[in-house]
Amino acid sequence: MSPVRVRFAPSPTGPLHIGGARSALFNWLFARHYGGTFIVRIEDTDLERSSRQSEENILDALRWLGLDWDEGVDVGGPYGPYRQMERLELYTKYADCLLESGAAYLCYCSEEELAAEREALMAKGELPRYLGRCRNLSAGERASLEAEGRRPVVRFRVPEDKVVLVKDLVRGDVSFECSEIGDYIIIKSDGIPTYNFAVVVDDHVMAISHVIRAEEHLSNTPRQILLYDALGWETPEFAHVSLILGKDRSKMSKRHGATAIEQYQERGYLPEALANFLALLGWSPGSEEEVFSLGELKQQFTLERVAKSPAVFDLDKLNWLNGHYIRETDLERLTEMAVPHLEQAGYISTPLSADKYEWVKKVVASVRNHLSYMQEIAGHVKIYFDDNVQIADEEAREIMAGEQVGAVLQDLIKKVNVALTDEIKEDEARQLLKEVGKDLGLKGKQVFMPVRVALTGSTQGPDLNQVMAILGREGIARRLSKWA
Ligand code: GLU
Repeated sequence: MSPVRVRFAPSPTGPLHIGGARSALFNWLFARHYGGTFIVRIEDTDLERSSRQSEENILDALRWLGLDWDEGVDVGGPYGPYRQMERLELYTKYADCLLESGAAYLCYCSEEELAAEREALMAKGELPRYLGRCRNLSAGERASLEAEGRRPVVRFRVPEDKVVLVKDLVRGDVSFECSEIGDYIIIKSDGIPTYNFAVVVDDHVMAISHVIRAEEHLSNTPRQILLYDALGWETPEFAHVSLILGKDRSKMSKRHGATAIEQYQERGYLPEALANFLALLGWSPGSEEEVFSLGELKQQFTLERVAKSPAVFDLDKLNWLNGHYIRETDLERLTEMAVPHLEQAGYISTPLSADKYEWVKKVVASVRNHLSYMQEIAGHVKIYFDDNVQIADEEAREIMAGEQVGAVLQDLIKKVNVALTDEIKEDEARQLLKEVGKDLGLKGKQVFMPVRVALTGSTQGPDLNQVMAILGREGIARRLSKWA
């Protein structure tokens, strides 16, 4: 195999989406698996929709996911520049080659003329395509069209009656009839190349070995292969990765949930969970295993295990995976992630003192097992910030009606109040509850259920010892005294 060189080639026309991130990830994994080179090339020829801000957003999202690249706009490399608008001379040069060899020609048709042609074809039930009005213009005809002030585009002359075979590493052999293609524009009248032309020139000049991208580009591939042939270039290998569908089996869209990577970042998903999830959108390890670090994915990823069938975006699975990573990851990191969400919910304000930060850490530790993503934390921590405890349900009410409850709470208040500091460690809390049980001759449950309900209003929730440590002695006494 020639050296592996793959690229992710986003158009910077908006934030990085799930599909783009998956393409980037597959390219990255492929490059890293084979010790190859991963390139990020910016395809910014759509001047109206492209922006540097989107470019930044895309690169930031890639970095956040844990991807790095060997060549690209920010890191440079031997095949730069890596922004297409900075490579215009190159496209002109190769378009001139095609014009010279007769593989391309100048076309002067106006928008109106083209629209009329399209309509006429559609009215006849035919595929709308360019029928080649300017294919064989004489020099004189060209001159008079130019004298009318028309500015030409460069069109590629599609060979007649040819079949183009795409040998796809994922989809197998797919053939396309040239008769259905119609001569297509490679350079627009403003001198800017179209996607199909720029991508071929760049993939060739940048020595790309494998083009791994979304299935929606499969239909562009015959147009690209024809250009490789006309320029006398070898084609790279192609691998078109299946569409991503929503759970209802229609193409993934905003209706199915957030589509931009930054939205997941904002909601407090962990990048390694999202990367793990994206890898499983089309690739499978061949086992039941579902949790993979980027390092493991790198080791295992091959195109042979990329499925032909569409991938289904299952948010429940992402939430499950993310919950798993939230439980596994370092508490310090989780706390950093939680702070903006807690602040946004109005529970804390930054900067936090060192003591308060330690306290927030305990809060996070107590609820982390219940979170699918960090934004959910606001809904779980209300119990720590609101002394006005509300009984959650009938079950909790029944607990508080128990005849031992008054004595339990009184005893605990007394025990909590003996120390001079507010702080109470989890172990001490556990010990106090035990002692109350011993004093009153009660079983564990008879003690800690009413204490739990008195402190939080609910029979369920975080570990009671953790809750007590978070509320502190004063907080505990304040809440219990309302019941005692
Ligand atoms: N700029 C194209 C896109 O964003 C790249 C497609 C390709 O990888 O060839 O869809």
